[in-house]
Order: sequence, then C-alpha cells, then structure tokens
Amino acid sequence: MQANRRSRAREGVGDGRIDMALECVLCGAWPTSHATTHADDDGGSTITMNDTARVVCHTAADANPLLKETSMGWVDYSVIPESRSAHEASMHRELIVGGGAGGLELATRLGDRLGKQGKASIALLDKARVHVWKPHLHEIASGTLDIDVDSVEYLAHARAHHYRFRIGAMCGLNREKRQVYVEPTLDEDGRQFIPPRVLGYDTLILAVGSVGNDFSTPGVKEHAIAIDSAGEAARFNRRLISACVRANAQYEPLHPGQLHCVIVGAGATGVELLPRQHSIRWRT
Ligand SMILES: Cc1cc2nc3c(=O)[nH]c(=O)nc-3n(C[C@H](O)[C@H](O)[C@H](O)COP(=O)(O)OP(=O)(O)OC[C@H]3O[C@@H](n4cnc5c(N)ncnc54)[C@H](O)[C@@H]3O)c2cc1C
Repeated sequence: MQANRRSRAREGVGDGRIDMALECVLCGAWPTSHATTHADDDGGSTITMNDTARVVCHTAADANPLLKETSMGWVDYSVIPESRSAHEASMHRELIVGGGAGGLELATRLGDRLGKQGKASIALLDKARVHVWKPHLHEIASGTLDIDVDSVEYLAHARAHHYRFRIGAMCGLNREKRQVYVEPTLDEDGRQFIPPRVLGYDTLILAVGSVGNDFSTPGVKEHAIAIDSAGEAARFNRRLISACVRANAQYEPLHPGQLHCVIVGAGATGVELLPRQHSIRWRT
C-alpha cells in the first residue's frame, strides 16, 4: 500500500496553522511522537497541515526500511512496481544518477556507443530538467547567463545521443533488488506531476556531485541561499534584483545594511560572484 491515506486528526487548534495530534497512516496508532513531527507539551504531536500531510510513527518507519519520507509525505516504495519499458526487457540496463559534468558525459558516450546499436539500455536520472555546467552558476546568480538559453535540455540531448532521460531526485537505493527510488516530481506550485517511481538497473553509476557544507553553522539553513544548483542561483538572482528594485523605488535614503550581501566562501563561485554582484548594484 502506498502511504496515500490522509492522517486522521485527533484535535485541532487555530492561529493560522492547524496543529493536531495525528494518527499514524500505517499502523493506526496515536503515537506520542511521530517521525515527522515534534512532541508537544502534552505528549501529543504537532504538524503544519497541508494537502499532503501524512504522519508515520517511528515503529512503522523502523519496521519498513522501504518507507521513505519524500517532499509529498511518506511513500512505501516496496509496493511501487518497477518502471521498465518493453524494449529494455532483454537488455543490460545502465543507470546513471546525476547529469552533471561527469554523468552527462558518460551518458553521451555510452548512448553513442552502446545505446545506438541496441547493445544496452542507457538511462540518466537527474533532479533537474536542464544541465548547467557548475562553473557557470555564479553567472546565473548575477544575471549574466540566461538559463533558458545557455543550458542543455536533457530530453533533447538524450534523444540525440540514444539514451533515456528520467527526471527526479534519487532518495533511496536497494542494492539487493538493484533498484533506485525516485522522489515524486513537483511543479512550480508544489503540485506533484510525476509520481514516485522505482527504477531498476544492472549497472549503477552514482555521479551526484557535491554540495557546499555549512558545518551546521546556526542560521545558515534559514537565512542563506546556497549556490549549488541552477535553481538556487536563479533564486539568489531574483532576490538580489528585487532588493535593488525596492531600493530604487523608495524615496528615503538606504537603511544601513539594506543592500548588503555577504558571500560566505572565497572559492571559485564566491570570488567570481563578488565583482559581478558589485557591478549589478552600481547599474541598478
Ligand atoms: C565556480 C566553479 C568553477 C569551476 N571551474 C572548473 C574548471 O575550470 N575546470 C574543471 O575541471 N572543473 C571546474 N569546477 C569543478 C567542476 O564543476 C566539478 O568538478 C564538476 O561539476 C563535478 O562534476 P560531477 O558530475 O561530479 O557533479 P556535478 O557537475 O555537480 O553534477 C551533479 C549532478 O547530480 C544531480 N543530482 C544531485 N543529487 C541528485 C539526486 N539525489 N538525484 C538525481 N540527481 C541528482 C545534480 O542535479 C547535478 O546535475 C568548477 C566548479 C565551480 C563551482
């Protein structure tokens, strides 16, 4: 059973959020603490409800390692059938996770050599729809690179190089069954448009790259924007432009710190971003 039943609420409280004690969707218990929630003073649990809120108690989660918490709530991957196309049935399946500098190059070569001749089925899984080479991220952040123009559309690239592109973020791996679990994919409004999937493989290549480490510095997660992906770089740019436009529209002088931006990390991205960001402020 996929965990798609809405948790049953025991009690509700107002104030904009709806805080409730919730029934576990798998075992039906009213647990005192839930995997997704914090216990409140009465030993109940609180959760900010939305259309997809589901709660699973620790007992149920521990008993089923194939139960994963995804962006759309809890999903039981053990009951999702493997996605497999008919033509793959007799072929060796090579699955590459991560279409960055390494993964995209590999998919291209394997597709051209093996996929084209039908000697193997090559698939590339990435959580993004387009590939942007990482050294260009600071250009997206500063607005000098247009992601819609200067990126590689995976689907079109896959077709030209005889591999299959699958969109989605890998969230789990079952080495025994040779399966990769893929999160549901959401649209810009947070609605699911591709359900969670299970992809099988004979050979698996993980090429998911790396992300910046905040060393658990307090406040970073809440207030800073990491620039590890094209989406994050674009978000930084939107926020920067909004701040400049807001400052331009106001009649009073700038408040102290109003347009200050702190770049943490003097690596390639930070050092490249600094002068570009400075020039944006002057232009605006
Ligand atoms: C500013 C800057 C300048 C650089 N300059 C150079 C240079 O001049 N020369 C050079 O050789 N190198 C340079 N590098 C380093 C180079 O960019 C990296 O070494 C390279 O991108 C690493 O490639 P990768 O394939 O391992 O990972 P990445 O290129 O980071 O790709 C990882 C991919 O995995 C995907 N992914 C991540 N997690 C998941 C998941 N759970 N499910 C599905 N997909 C996932 C991501 O969306 C991404 O597409 C530079 C890096 C930076 C930041």
